Amino acid sequence: MAKILIVDDDVQIRGLLVKMLSVEQHEVIEAENGAQGCKKYREHRPDLLITDLVMPEKNGIDMILELKKEFPSIRIVAISGGGGITGSFDYLPIAKLVGALHILQKPFSLQELKSAIAEALT
Ligand SMILES: [Mg+2]
Repeated sequence: MAKILIVDDDVQIRGLLVKMLSVEQHEVIEAENGAQGCKKYREHRPDLLITDLVMPEKNGIDMILELKKEFPSIRIVAISGGGGITGSFDYLPIAKLVGALHILQKPFSLQELKSAIAEALT
């Protein structure tokens, strides 16, 4: 059981993740963009941050950079379906470069999510 912060601007994906993680008995906190994610991370100090990368207000990469400076041991799993005008630009390797422990390409299975979380928390 862990306290997990989910940051994604897509309300349907957030809902799905909340459902998946609640079934696993995790305590889940939600934010809809990077700015809100930073605020909620400071407020709740979760064990794990699961974040989308392409978001309004503040994108996932900027949020990771900001939080990593403040909380060097932060545990992050990045999820993305790609971004840019064509949707083909891949931000996931950049997320890994700036500190994400695991990256998951959307769509991913519950099993993939569970193992990413388990590894990120150990
Ligand atoms: Mg997004």
